[in-house]
Amino acid sequence: MRRAIVQDLLKLSREIGIEARGLVLAGEGNTSAKLSDKTFLVKASGAALATLKENEIVECRLAPLLELLDENHLTDSQIDEALMASRVNSKAKKPSLEAMFHAYLLSLPEIHFVAHAHATSVNQILCSPRARDFAIHRMMSDEAGCCGIASVFVPHVEPGLRLAQAIRRETNSFIKKYQTTPRVILLQNHGIITLGKCWESALAVMLVSEKSAKIFVGAAALGGPVFLSETEANHFANRADEEYRRKMMKL
Ligand SMILES: [Zn+2]
Repeated sequence: MRRAIVQDLLKLSREIGIEARGLVLAGEGNTSAKLSDKTFLVKASGAALATLKENEIVECRLAPLLELLDENHLTDSQIDEALMASRVNSKAKKPSLEAMFHAYLLSLPEIHFVAHAHATSVNQILCSPRARDFAIHRMMSDEAGCCGIASVFVPHVEPGLRLAQAIRRETNSFIKKYQTTPRVILLQNHGIITLGKCWESALAVMLVSEKSAKIFVGAAALGGPVFLSETEANHFANRADEEYRRKMMKL
């Protein structure tokens, strides 16, 4: 079981790291996978997704990182200490600073894989005044089917504990509003996070989001985009399931 999850996480990481896709450069971005109710695997700080190796993945305990999210007055060095202390093996590398939001997202129902990238086309929109428009609307049936009825939108916050707390706050209000777990979280002026039950799904959502962002930018240049109505987006989002997303990667 553990072996298979490690292999799946390496596959997801290397696919996200493929340079021609324009999702990450060098050490940008990170990935994670749930091992059990108690621990998860996350990319080590500074490692490159494109060439990620097994010794650049760190196993961390979920509970201490989830507890961190309730703290409001920690210094950077206290956060660093807590990250290091969450490692199962004290000889393992330092986990990514973004391990805090990975821990929270992997605690959501049915979420086993998480990918985060600074995707070029998505960021063109997230650094523009139309960022929220891209998050709350859908333009195409495949986009709604793969990425869900809408994306969580997180206003800009510096990376670290404050960002993890903002992601938790905005994701909780999304779940309350739409009564479903999101597939995409968009971080203003920063990047994208995708969630999946399997690694293929987290990858499919990332690639479809990046493609949709290119379409959005092109349509905006022509005076659009024209969005699907909420009823239409809801219809396509509800029709699709995890199997649909997985198949998108196997065609
Ligand atoms: Zn980032």
